[in-house]
Amino acid sequence: MIQQAEKLLQQYYGYPSFRPGQKEAISHVLDGENTLAVMPTGGGKSLCYQIPGLALEGTAIIISPLISLMKDQVDALNSYGIAATYINSSLSTEEQRQRMWDMQQGSYAFIYVAPERFDAPSFLSALKGMKLSLIAFDEAHCISQWGHDFRPSYRSIVSTLQKIPNLPVIMALTATATQEVIKDIKQLIHVTDQHVVNTGFARDNLSFRIIKGRDKREFVGEYLTQIPNESGIIYTATRKDADQLHYLLTKKGFAAGKYHAGMTENQRKQAQMDFVQDEITTMIATNAFGMGIDKSNVRYVIHYSMPMNIESYYQEAGRAGRDGEPGDCVLLFSSQDINLQRFLIDQSPVEEKKKEEYTKLQSMVNYCHTHTCLQQYILDYFNDPSSAKKCGKCSNCTHDGEEQDMTKEAQMVLSCVKRMGERFGAGLTAKVLKGSSDQKVKQFRFQNLSTYGIMPNYTEKELTRLIHFLTAEGYLSPGQGRYPALQLTQEAVEVIKGEQPVVMLVETTTAKQDLDYNEE
Ligand code: ADP
Repeated sequence: MIQQAEKLLQQYYGYPSFRPGQKEAISHVLDGENTLAVMPTGGGKSLCYQIPGLALEGTAIIISPLISLMKDQVDALNSYGIAATYINSSLSTEEQRQRMWDMQQGSYAFIYVAPERFDAPSFLSALKGMKLSLIAFDEAHCISQWGHDFRPSYRSIVSTLQKIPNLPVIMALTATATQEVIKDIKQLIHVTDQHVVNTGFARDNLSFRIIKGRDKREFVGEYLTQIPNESGIIYTATRKDADQLHYLLTKKGFAAGKYHAGMTENQRKQAQMDFVQDEITTMIATNAFGMGIDKSNVRYVIHYSMPMNIESYYQEAGRAGRDGEPGDCVLLFSSQDINLQRFLIDQSPVEEKKKEEYTKLQSMVNYCHTHTCLQQYILDYFNDPSSAKKCGKCSNCTHDGEEQDMTKEAQMVLSCVKRMGERFGAGLTAKVLKGSSDQKVKQFRFQNLSTYGIMPNYTEKELTRLIHFLTAEGYLSPGQGRYPALQLTQEAVEVIKGEQPVVMLVETTTAKQDLDYNEE
């Protein structure tokens, strides 16, 4: 049957061979096994359900959380001569009824629907009377409450589906799943270990960079001047930033558009179309933009502010280079970004989720401070075993600093944190190490500690940076709550005992100016 799949690949899509993971995923589905495919963005997940959908008898139901994605997918399938359609709220009632009718006649090989469709009893009863080839959950991480984009309506479909006597094979596909999410999806849709196809998350064509201490507007202006004709996305944390940056860049003559939830649906549609059709080269957007846009020649993704977690960052940055050509992923970091994200987490109505969100935010902050390979850091975060290899091209791998043994300095910092009772953040700890006569230092009588003023040759800024570095490398944990309360980890104990050296990349003079930024 897999030979038939290869034939379909050539016949419909004109591709000579499968990409990594596609063949395995397709053959599991063809064997009737529920399958989970975890592949990076641009890895070719659509084909993993489309080819079985073509090979198996009946209609394939594709559940996708985003309406904008459906039309593109359906248009693409139609252009290959495949009968496909979507049924969603963008259609008139009459159109929906007509498509439902055609669907029941078996006129389509593929039907795309949003999760909400399953709330309609008429849809469910229509499905019961049909021959179904498969059901696919696209963006399957939305099923899991551990996912960063959980949608309850998505999760509840799984139990609704149990009511269908003619339930076909089920497939789940995602590009961003931590081990927790993978486990959750597996349990939920009954996928056994051998039917999880995980090609890893590595995106060899992307290079990751972190820029600190630069004027962000100036950086973006210079960046776009160098490559005015390349397509790219600039993500901002707020609508206001998107508006301001858009105003500024268009005033400078750049072909930039914007996209955020404060615009009307028509404005957003138009902006997206302009971008996809290369009428504008730079899209300035909030995270409302992008899930499901299939634009393969995006050459750069700049994050104007740090996002809330690594999942969002990797998904957004991963929109660069879907065609396999190089993509540049730049994160412009400033310490105010952390405050903004904390504020956004505080706004969340779900109290229980906040703690988890803070932990995720800390991993994101650590990414900005780590000295290890950035691609490796991300892969580690997702427990991807392929993280053993350095990427060789991120801003840490290509850094021209020198390695310096900082074990003694680290021991001083760690002892100070211990003596301060593991209840305070980086700022105050730096003050104590420096020997500052700050009011707060006096208030807690920290001038009496033996670690008070033991690092007088460093500036407070440098000390804060060192503390952030030690946090990023896992020697300090920032605690779980709203306000950071540095605590020693097991690794820290080893450092204090002299069993573990600490090596830090220290700036050479040319690179130093990059780091002259304000820390909290
Ligand atoms: P994903 O959903 O995983 O992000 P897509 O399914 O949109 O990725 O595929 C990304 C691009 O790669 C699409 O343009 C698709 O046509 C192309 N593609 C998929 N599989 C293959 C293949 N086997 N050979 C060549 N190109 C492929």
